[in-house]
Amino acid sequence: MPSSDPGGGERWRTAVVWFRRDLRLHDHPALADAISRAGMVVPLFVFDDALLGGRWPAPNRVWFMDRSARLLDQALRDRGSRLHVRTGRPAEVVPRFAAEVGADVVLVSRDYGPYARLRDGQVGKALESDGRSLRARRGILVHEPEEVISAAGGPFSVFTPFHRAWRQLPLRDALDAPRSIDLPGSADPGTWPSSADLRVPERPPADLPEPGEEAARDRLGRWLRSGLDDYHSRRDDLAADGTSRLSQDLHWGLLSPLEVYRRAKREGRGPAAYCRQLVWREFYHHVLWHRPGVTRGPYLAQFEGMAWSEDEDDFQAWCAGSTGYPVVDAAMRQLMATGWMHNRARLIVGSFLTKDLLIDWRRGERHFMAHLTDGDLANNNGGWQWVASTGTDPQPYFRIFNPVLQAERFDPNGAFVRRWVPELEGVPLARLHEPWKMSGDEQRAAGCVIGRDYPSPIADHAEARQRALAAYSAVRNG
Ligand SMILES: Cc1cc2nc3c(=O)[nH]c(=O)nc-3n(C[C@H](O)[C@H](O)[C@H](O)COP(=O)(O)OP(=O)(O)OC[C@H]3O[C@@H](n4cnc5c(N)ncnc54)[C@H](O)[C@@H]3O)c2cc1C
Repeated sequence: MPSSDPGGGERWRTAVVWFRRDLRLHDHPALADAISRAGMVVPLFVFDDALLGGRWPAPNRVWFMDRSARLLDQALRDRGSRLHVRTGRPAEVVPRFAAEVGADVVLVSRDYGPYARLRDGQVGKALESDGRSLRARRGILVHEPEEVISAAGGPFSVFTPFHRAWRQLPLRDALDAPRSIDLPGSADPGTWPSSADLRVPERPPADLPEPGEEAARDRLGRWLRSGLDDYHSRRDDLAADGTSRLSQDLHWGLLSPLEVYRRAKREGRGPAAYCRQLVWREFYHHVLWHRPGVTRGPYLAQFEGMAWSEDEDDFQAWCAGSTGYPVVDAAMRQLMATGWMHNRARLIVGSFLTKDLLIDWRRGERHFMAHLTDGDLANNNGGWQWVASTGTDPQPYFRIFNPVLQAERFDPNGAFVRRWVPELEGVPLARLHEPWKMSGDEQRAAGCVIGRDYPSPIADHAEARQRALAAYSAVRNG
């Protein structure tokens, strides 16, 4: 396992900085360390076959990553350097590249998922057999998994005490972006894969945010100036645009979580509520580190035996946004159109899939990973296990969201549903969240006949709730 310890006053002739999900120059401890200790610094990016074609392929994410990496290359060129590109298995291409440029070390930002650990272990071993080493630094999280530990000396399984302990830890200062980087002239820059190689279109595959660090920093600046203070009151409003929309930037490391946290941390309910969400991100990454098995099965072992429904029509209706529940459909269509979904909507559709349809949360997790630009193993898995009640949350399993009440509460004017479900345009607000209750005359007047212009609900919430309670009690008590 690579160490996070910067370790003494060692100096290197040449250091490779291997960028992964830390595609930025500001507050990049691995890059800063390389610059301060090495005569030459060689930036590298690897298009990893396993991630491009692996368990979670996603054009939105690959497109955003590719364009952000290209913009990182540009930013490096502005400083006298460039991003070297290789394609293949990191365990082969990274040691080969390190040998090619005569590097003593390869520096990375430490990463936490099972694949990342395996990959870095293999790369580290291969480098060592060649007399070089892999050094991991912080940067993807604010605090490392070893640093946030309970009084009993182990990891936390509940968020609130984790948050309390997390906040006690000192925050380091954020690092500036380097002004210039010395580059040896000889290294082959490599060939950037084409969009066709990456199996993504030239243009953004959906209505995605502007890629790259600069755009992310602009978003952050705007958010801190004009969104943050009202976060606590607007964050759950589905139509309000009241959240930061920085999740893809945090996932790809266009922004440093430490910098975001430090700049957001100030007096007020908005900043406090916002900082708390950033700690949820840390929590789920720590859970993933301590319990890598969550990527395959439930955090709470008793739910291993759940009798999930295999109804393929239900699942396809959920994916397509045609369940007949307007708020669920609006959210699923928002995902397809933008590669992002509001957090409250993620909770509603997650509860609907796992409780109303009784479909395995792992199918929802996979669908989200296929479309989210912010698709993040730790946060997505944590979110899904939370809604499915199989995860770290101490609440009992019977938290089942009523999609109509959720919609009335968090989309009170119907603006979210109307934006994404145009078939319901003419439906009056009083019926918008449960259009099946319209009489025949009302349907005709609204220009929306249920079953023809918009689907009948695929489940009856009251019945589905009873079915879910029975299924969850069976495994809990069995
Ligand atoms: C079923 C489900 C799946 C999810 N999948 C993902 C995912 O793949 N990637 C992802 O980044 N988030 C995921 N989340 C968490 C959350 O929905 C998103 O982070 C948030 O909607 C992103 O929008 P934002 O940047 O405007 O969030 P804001 O409300 O502005 O929050 C700021 C940042 O805090 C972090 N954050 C906020 N809420 C959470 C949370 N509940 N858990 C972990 N981190 C959080 C994110 O990094 C986010 O960008 C999921 C939640 C659920 C319920």
